[in-house]
Formats: sequence, C-alpha cells, structure tokens
Amino acid sequence: MNRIPVAILGATGAVGQRMIQLLANHPWFEIAVLTGSDRTIGRPYGELVRWVLDGNPPPHIANMIVQPTDQVADVALALSALPTDAARAYEQVWAAHTAVCSNASAYRMTPDVPLIIPEVNPEHVNMIDDQRRNRGWRGALVTNPNCSVIGVALAVKPLAVTFGITQMQISTLQAVSGAGYPGVPSLDIIDNIIPNIANGTEEEKIESEPNKILGTYAAGGIQSAQMRISAQVTRVPVNDGHTALLSIKGKQSISAEAAIEAIRTFKSPPIVQGLPSAPAQPLVLHDHPERPQPRRDRDAGNGMSTSIGRIRGCSINDVRMVVLSHNTIRGAAGGAILNAELLVAAGYTRNT
Ligand code: NAP
Repeated sequence: MNRIPVAILGATGAVGQRMIQLLANHPWFEIAVLTGSDRTIGRPYGELVRWVLDGNPPPHIANMIVQPTDQVADVALALSALPTDAARAYEQVWAAHTAVCSNASAYRMTPDVPLIIPEVNPEHVNMIDDQRRNRGWRGALVTNPNCSVIGVALAVKPLAVTFGITQMQISTLQAVSGAGYPGVPSLDIIDNIIPNIANGTEEEKIESEPNKILGTYAAGGIQSAQMRISAQVTRVPVNDGHTALLSIKGKQSISAEAAIEAIRTFKSPPIVQGLPSAPAQPLVLHDHPERPQPRRDRDAGNGMSTSIGRIRGCSINDVRMVVLSHNTIRGAAGGAILNAELLVAAGYTRNT
C-alpha cells in the first residue's frame, strides 16, 4: 500500500518531535510536511530543532525544510502539536481541506468536534458527518484529550460501562515533559513539587473532558456523562509519565474485586484492535503494592498502555486506584496518531 502523506503542525516542539519519532517506521503514514513558526520556517529541520528525545531526528527528516503553518499543504492528514493560540488560528483552516488530529485544547470542548480515545469512544468519530454538514468542510477536526485525562478515562471506562460512575476525585502527579521545552525552570522543580499547572486551567480540563469522552453520542451531539469530578494537580520532578490517584463512586456500588475484574477483562473495540499503534493490552493491571511507577511502567505497550494498580476500597467513595500513562506518547503524540489511524479505518480521510 502507498503510504498516506501526513503533515505535522508544530513539528519542532516536544510533542511534534514525539510524532516524528513514532512515525519513523509507520506502516500507513509517511511524513510529507513539517511546519513551524516564524522562528523556524524556511530552514532545515535538523539545523534548528532542539531535539529533546534520545538519539537524533531521522536524517531524511533533518533535511526537510520547515514550512509555514498558515499555508495548507496537499496531504490527507495533519497531526497538530501547536500551542493553544496557534491551534485556534490554524487548525480550522487545515480542517476545511484535510483531516486534522489535534493535541491542543483549543477545540476539545467545541460541541461538533469529537474528543476521542479510540479504545473508549470510537463511535464519536461519526460526529464528523455533523461537522462537515455544519461547516462545509471536506476535511475534519478531531482532538485527543488532556494528557492526564487520557489515562484516567481509559482506566475508568470499564467501570463506567459496568457500574456507571457518579463522582470522582482525581489528584495528579504530572511529569515535567508535559510543559513542553524548556518548560519548568530547573530551580523550581528539582527537589520540589508545584501545586498548580497552567494557571489552574489543567484542573478545569480534568473536570470537564471525561464527561464528554464518556458521554453518549446521539442526534448530532454528546449527552454528558454527568459525573461530578474534583481535580487537584501537581507538577513533580519526573521526566515522563503522569500519575493520577483516583477515588470513584459508582451508580451501583463498586467493590475492589469487581473493579479488578472489570478492568482485567476490558478489551479494545474491534475497530481499534487492528490499528498499528493500538496496544495489544490497553489496560495493564498491577497487583504489586508498589506499582505502577513512572520510571518502570510508563513504556508499557510502547508507551500506549495505561497501567493501573493499588485497586482497593475507599471509605468516602467506593474504590481507589493509581493510574499511570506516558504523557507525550499516549497522552499526546501517540494518542493523535491512533486517532489518525481510526479516521483511516472509519473512512474519514481523503485517500481511503
Ligand atoms: P512546545 O514544545 O512549546 O512546541 C510548540 C510548537 O508549536 C513548536 O513547534 C513551535 O514552533 C510551534 N509554534 C509555536 N507558536 C507558533 C505559531 N504562532 N505558529 C506556528 N507554529 C507555532 O509545545 P508541546 O509541549 O510540544 O505542546 C504542543 C501542544 O500539545 C500544546 O497545545 C500542548 O498543550 C499539547 N499537549 C502537550 C502535551 C505534553 O505532554 N507536552 C500533552 C498533551 C497535549 P517553533 O519551534 O518554530 O517556534
């Protein structure tokens, strides 16, 4: 099969670099265009990028000239790693012509924009039909959730299906790579914990996005899952891997044993199982009381699996657990690539 040409918008940043790394040997996609800001356009990628991952960019990528983000290229898919303001300005322009899979928060809660985790709510992709009708687009815009929300929504999906969820308390311990490069100054984060992220807006995202993701798509819109969610976030001196401590109350009471069984038997929906970036095991259950840990467990399933441990009863809600997922892979670049694969499988890209 001829590989599908893909553009990466914001290719020089932390998430853009991960996209390049993850697409290096992708069976379906080939990188055709890299875009940047005025700082970088017109120059070879390898000369200007400050590569924050192990190794170096692949040589053919290093030689590519960075293109302007405001000019739409003739590609079947665009993966966006733009900051919020640039995403707000440019993603709609690209989506009028091509399918855009975005990491940014700009359009996640827009009513006709799907917020997708393929293992959790692949049926929300059909909202693209409404979007095309509403906006007259040939392309599409889909988003992936906040980097902490992805792990949380994956972990609680089996509980939402089996018992229903009425409320969750969520405390996060988030890695420094979540702030991009150069991110948090070293003098602030070494030997320290910072109890705020993105001026309080991170908590808002964690409290709202799961209700859209776990909501029901019908008659052109999403009916919210209506969970009450209270979030507190911290930035911790970990390179990669966001941890979330959850306390969950079910519509029906959830015992620890029943939660373990629901999570243990969870399987990806059939449309996701054959996608190249889908992990064979979306949820990895730990029974050792000291797991999951960011350094040991973030790379599970090539960084695409969510690790869950310490499932036990809760004296306030029903059940507690610890959830870990890789923030720049599952929570960002890998999540957007898996969404792009879902769009291909569901027939929403031009070449399919
Ligand atoms: P970053 O390291 O700051 O990179 C930003 C990228 O966007 C760079 O390539 C930059 O290009 C480009 N850019 C900036 N301003 C631009 C403009 N006005 N026009 C065109 N391009 C512009 O950020 P990041 O950490 O990769 O995050 C990217 C996006 O993903 C953000 O929306 C973020 O919230 C989201 N996200 C990040 C994570 C994570 O774990 N890091 C997780 C989930 C979601 P130049 O180098 O040319 O300036």
